[in-house]
Parts: sequence; structure tokens; C-alpha cells
Amino acid sequence: MSEHGIDEAAVAALAATVTGLVAAPGDAGFDEECATYNPYTPMRPAVVVGAASGRDVAAAIRFAGEHGLPVATLTTGHQVRGADGAVLINLRRLNRVTVDVDARTARIGGGALWSEVLAVTTPAGLAPVNGSAPHVGATGYLLGGGHSPTLGRLYGYGADTVRSVEIVTADGNARRVTADSDPDLFFAVRGGKGNFGVVTALEVELFPVTRFYGGAVFVAGEHAPTLLHAWRTWAPALPESATTSVAVQRLPPDPALPEPLRGAFVVALRFAFIGDAAEGERVFAPMRGAAPILVDGVRDRPYAEVGLIHTDPPGPLPYVDRTTGLRDLPAEAVDALLALVGPGTGCPLVSVELRALGGALDRRPEPPNAVATRGMPFVLFGFGVGGPEALPQLRGYLGRVLDAVSPWAHGRQMANFLSAVDEGATPAEVRAAYGDEIYDRLSKIKQVYDPGNLFRANHNIPPA
Ligand SMILES: Cc1cc2nc3c(=O)[nH]c(=O)nc-3n(C[C@H](O)[C@H](O)[C@H](O)COP(=O)(O)OP(=O)(O)OC[C@H]3O[C@@H](n4cnc5c(N)ncnc54)[C@H](O)[C@@H]3O)c2cc1C
Repeated sequence: MSEHGIDEAAVAALAATVTGLVAAPGDAGFDEECATYNPYTPMRPAVVVGAASGRDVAAAIRFAGEHGLPVATLTTGHQVRGADGAVLINLRRLNRVTVDVDARTARIGGGALWSEVLAVTTPAGLAPVNGSAPHVGATGYLLGGGHSPTLGRLYGYGADTVRSVEIVTADGNARRVTADSDPDLFFAVRGGKGNFGVVTALEVELFPVTRFYGGAVFVAGEHAPTLLHAWRTWAPALPESATTSVAVQRLPPDPALPEPLRGAFVVALRFAFIGDAAEGERVFAPMRGAAPILVDGVRDRPYAEVGLIHTDPPGPLPYVDRTTGLRDLPAEAVDALLALVGPGTGCPLVSVELRALGGALDRRPEPPNAVATRGMPFVLFGFGVGGPEALPQLRGYLGRVLDAVSPWAHGRQMANFLSAVDEGATPAEVRAAYGDEIYDRLSKIKQVYDPGNLFRANHNIPPA
């Protein structure tokens, strides 16, 4: 009998019904199946199921229900909330992606990464509303809203583009959920993340986008005040075909970085324009002239290079992070931020970024979904990297950054940016992230589909 009250015979019986891998602590393959992007969110489940099919997912969920254990999922571990004593379902094998070119849709396996989606969609001349990092799971991103550095302001949140969801709910039943079949569940799962079941596949709309004008320009950190003040007035006036963010970064001495950026204090100014490259260059020109440029990586690019706008670290990475939505970004807010992250501050964080939202992100899709950040013009996201000894300082500094901009806080948060590791993930924070109206509706829907709160190893929305 294991410490979680499961005997070997029960695990063996589960293994006999599953075509993928089943492993308990100490078994071969257990550690590999449980490995996460962030070592500060380790997974210590009672048993892990490396699901090879929707049937495997259903078997794992039924097993969890029978043994009174929570269910956790893992694709990359970018945002997992721990799985102590849970049945962990590793979804990485469910990575099949197919494209219907005529319908302009893709069916994405529940464990596919954006890189695996893009490998199929870009040759077809189509693009999804993907996120900044190709190594992030597409389904995790789409279930949490999904802010795209290229297409969001034109086409909305990633969740707005989801047409159907194949999901196994707490009763172990597989359902194909659409706006017509289960309107409440379809509302909830597009924004409510993993609270309502395990998604084995979903179908998204694609867009005829093959190129973009964009990338990142880096300037020395000493110019952060000039650049951030210029950006805060320029960004909100952009056309919807343009997207931008700005990040104050203390980069590591990583040999993979080009010389002027290695170990440097810089500001990364990101930009993407969907349309004619000459027009993109014209739109970007005011920022190109705002401060002396160290590295200019903004140019006409094939869509396959979308990951080079942010060049997010592929990991694994020991980090802590925090986020806040902002309802406004006046000069005082930029000054308050610069007082903690600007030149001469000794800021210990690797990156503090501001993304400008707006455009289609503000428009309610039809049918509506649980994305709660419509009308929020900016989001701030910061993270620090270090060993356990550095954590108190990093956490404290992230808290100070959030406090500094709190007079301009929006109140809502992007579900995808909620921290997995510390105070950014409390029940109060999750409620505030969605706002009372959406949160209470999600709790009621949870009561219907998961009354026992089987899916609680996440940013949990308990049933009510
Ligand atoms: C470097 C980096 C860049 C990012 N850039 C963006 C960005 O540009 N825009 C944006 O919106 N977000 C972004 N994110 C946030 C990212 O979208 C979330 O962390 C997302 O949850 C990652 O999903 P995952 O499957 O990779 O992670 P995991 O940690 O494996 O999953 C996280 C959670 O998602 C849920 N989940 C995932 N898959 C399923 C499934 N199949 N069924 C049910 N629940 C599931 C579960 O609740 C799970 O605990 C970024 C994150 C990182 C680390």
C-alpha cells in the first residue's frame, strides 16, 4: 500500500487498461513523466498516467474518482499547481495536429505544443492565435484565454477562436462540447482552464497569415525612461494590425545570447504588424527613433519565426513570477515602475514586461466565454530566476513592483499569467482574476460537471 492508500494491484489493474504508461513513485519512467518546466512546481503524484489516447485519460479520471484522489494534468509544467497525492495525467503524447485547409480550422491534440501546431499550420499558409513561446502547450494557453503577440488585437483571445472541445469530465465520460451541445460547459472551459475536465483535443479557427513585420529591438537599459514613456503614449494609438510589448530585462550571461545582450541590462521592445512590410516599418518608425539601438531584429519575417518576437527561454527554469492587469498607464505609473526596475535600482528580476492589449481583445465573442479581461488595456508580468536562497528577495521584489503600480491596477488578471508558485495563486486571487460575476457562474457550472472538485490541482474554482 502506498502512502496515498493505493495498493500495487490497483495500479497494475489501471496499467492493464491503459495503452500509455502508468508509473507509481519509484517505478521506471516516473520521474521523466513528472518533470516540469519550473523546478519550483514539482509534481509528486500518487500515480502518473502517460496518456496515449482519450480512453487512457478517461481510465485515469475514473481511477482517481474511485480512489478519492484529485486529478492533475501536465503538458509542459509551465503553470502547474502541484500534484501531491494526485493522479497526474501527462498529456504530451496527445500531440496530433491536423488542418482542414478549406474550413480554415485545426484539430489540436490536448498535449500539443505551439511548435507542433505551427509545424502543421504554417506550411498550409494559415496561422492560429498562438502565444509568444512555441514551447508552451496550445491547449493550456487556449483554456486560459490566450494573448497572442501577433494576432490577438486582430482576432481576439485564443479562447475566442475555439470551435469545439473534446473533454473528459469528472464522471469519466468523453464529450464533444460545442456552443450548441453544452452551452454552459463551452462557456466555462474557454477561460476557466483545467477546472472542468481534461481536454483531449480541440478545434480552433485559423487565419490566412503567412508573414509579419516584427521582432524585437533592444536598447541599453539606461534609456528605459525615454523608451517606456514614449511607448506608453505610442502603443494605445496603434492600429489593430499592430501589437507591441516592452520588457525591462537583466539578461543572464548566456553564451547563446549575442554579445551586446549577454549579461546586459536592456529594454526589449517587441512589435508585430500583420500586413504590408513597408506600412509596418512606417508604423514602427517613431519607436525606432526613440533611443539608440543595440540590436535591431524588427523586419519582415515568415510566420514560422513568431517565437523570435519574445525569444522566451526554453527552460527548465527555476523562477517565480507575478502579474497584474492595469486599467491605465499614465506617466506617474511608468515613473513608479522605473523607480524599481529602471537604471540604478539594482532590480534583481530578469524581466518586467508590459503588454498593450485592446482591439479585438476587448470585443465579446459570440458565443461569449469565461475570459474576464475584456477592456483591460495593459498587463504587467515580471519574473526572477534563482536558487532557493534567492527566493525571498525575488518574491519580495515582485511584491514591491505590484504595490508600486497598484494605484492603476485593473483588478482582473489574465488566467494564463497567474503565478503557479506563490501568493499570486491564492483562492482570493483566483476570484479577483475572474471578477465576481464570471467566477460565480463558473462555480455553478463546476457544481454540475465536477461537484466533488476532482479537478482541483490548478487555479481552483470550487463548485458552489
Ligand atoms: C515562456 C512563457 C511564455 C508565455 N507566453 C504566453 C503568451 O504569450 N500568452 C499567454 O496567454 N500565455 C502565455 N504563457 C502562459 C501559458 O499560456 C500558460 O502557462 C499555460 O497554462 C501553459 O500551458 P501548458 O500546457 O504549457 O502548461 P502546464 O503547466 O502543463 O498546464 C497548466 C495548466 O493548464 C491546464 N491545462 C493544460 N492542458 C490542459 C488540458 N489538455 N486539459 C485540461 N487542462 C489543461 C491545467 O489546469 C494545467 O494545470 C506563457 C508562459 C511561459 C512559461
